Amino acid sequence: MYNKRSFWKILALFFIPILLALLASQFAAIPWAQRLLNQKLDELQQDQIARQNELKLSLREQVSQFSFNCGETDMALLRNPRFYNDHVRIQGLWLSSGKGCSSLGPDVPAQDLGLSANFFSDLKEQQNGVSATLDKFNTEQELIAFYHLKGHTIYWVFNNSWAHRILATPCEGCFLFEFSARGDAPTSPIFSRGDRAIKLASDPLTSSTDDPTHMFSQMLWGGDKLIQYAKRQITLIGAGAGALIGLLLVIAYWLRHNHLGSLKNLLEIGLAQREFIPFYQPVVDSRSGQVIGFEALLRWQKGKELVSPHVFIDYAEECGLIMPMTEQLLEQVLEDLDKLGEKRWISINLVAAHIDQPVLRTWLEQQQWPNPERLAFELTERTPITDINHAAQEISELQKHGYHCKLDDFGTGYGGFAYLQQLGIHQIKIDKMFVDTIGTTDLKRSVLDAIIASGHGANMEMIAEGVESQEQADYLQARGVHLIQGYVYSKPLPLAQLLPWLTARRQHQL
Ligand code: C2E
Ligand code: CA
Ligand code: CA
Repeated sequence: MYNKRSFWKILALFFIPILLALLASQFAAIPWAQRLLNQKLDELQQDQIARQNELKLSLREQVSQFSFNCGETDMALLRNPRFYNDHVRIQGLWLSSGKGCSSLGPDVPAQDLGLSANFFSDLKEQQNGVSATLDKFNTEQELIAFYHLKGHTIYWVFNNSWAHRILATPCEGCFLFEFSARGDAPTSPIFSRGDRAIKLASDPLTSSTDDPTHMFSQMLWGGDKLIQYAKRQITLIGAGAGALIGLLLVIAYWLRHNHLGSLKNLLEIGLAQREFIPFYQPVVDSRSGQVIGFEALLRWQKGKELVSPHVFIDYAEECGLIMPMTEQLLEQVLEDLDKLGEKRWISINLVAAHIDQPVLRTWLEQQQWPNPERLAFELTERTPITDINHAAQEISELQKHGYHCKLDDFGTGYGGFAYLQQLGIHQIKIDKMFVDTIGTTDLKRSVLDAIIASGHGANMEMIAEGVESQEQADYLQARGVHLIQGYVYSKPLPLAQLLPWLTARRQHQL
């Protein structure tokens, strides 16, 4: 079942990426519009390359076949669909005799082509080139290519719809294309396609081909409509990408939730079957070699498998199962206590919730405050306590009944000595992280020395945790830390192994 918190989490996981993506897309609109503009210019150039290739084909294959008399062969060649295609609106011959013919028919005067009357005679000097039809009658200018051979002129008037077709996508009125021939052609064409108002607007986007070796220079302008279009498109892309990320996050959350849901089930079954058992790790006074107490560490005996607390403690805390788990542990510890020697204590790990509320106190009260001098509690510094005053009250209540409290993992949190004072705790467990620095050049070693010095200054009882070597034990002993817990003496053991271990140790010491 999803509770209210999960519902809000799912909503947040889904919508936050969408919102972030939408926000980011606002900044990306202009670069995106520029990208569309550059792509469009590329597209125009590709189209021109295709047209040039067709012109080359004509030059190679068609031109040499002309008889230059506008007879049947010439007309057939001019109308041959191989050369007379989408790109070419009219193609024709202008003979040296002053007559002409074209794909439209024989004898089309230059004016009918949109050219000046003496256009062809003016061209005489040039071997070949490009020009444009005249800008009149409100018609758009068209490109015209010409080639001279044996005193005659062959010309191609290009279809003016080519740029329109390309400029119409992806949005109408988004582009202005300017085309101009370089060099010193007598009638250098300069004309444009698209919305001329774009050029006059403030800050239009531009993209141009700037290759001086090219015959033409081309400039593409992008106006407001393009920016609006880019905004809409990038917003859609952003929303889509955000929704996809959101969906993935929700799926990941759902999978984790289900996994944890099944973990919760397993933990509940484990509790019902009393599968959570204590392992005990001895704490030894290195001066006498005597075992003075133990830390009870939970293990989950799941069939033959022994599950480490790292796998389940955090989640048990998150879903509240840590309370019944600790109760089961306490019950077991109370049962084992007598077998472990009269004077030895056993330390139990708590979580903040045990003392944020009077949970532990109530439980102990219900059991009529059992074994106060032999039960101790460890409170970790890793997770901070929210209501420190209340926690201090709870601790003082426990201490009044004779129970000891230790601050676990000392030095790893933010509490430090001020925290200890506020909570009224007089015992600390120095974390393995610091013990590990003994014999190394790690900078944290000076922290260890400082903790020990301050611990003595504040009259704290100190237990060093995670001591693995004799060298570490000696170092600590030399600095007055005698209470040692770690593999150097023993790993945490189940009661059945701990008892023979204690017996063997006693015999060894006798
Ligand atoms: P912790 O309270 O800091 O317990 C000490 C951990 O250090 C234990 O790990 C112990 O086995 C390990 N340790 C002790 N000496 C050495 C050593 O010399 N070398 C190395 N490598 N490790 C050493 P463990 O038993 O896996 O427990 C892990 C943590 O799980 C505990 O850290 C504690 O935070 C939590 N935990 C265990 N049992 C309980 C419990 O009953 N209640 C709560 N709330 N937490 C528990
Ligand atoms: Ca502990
Ligand atoms: Ca610890």
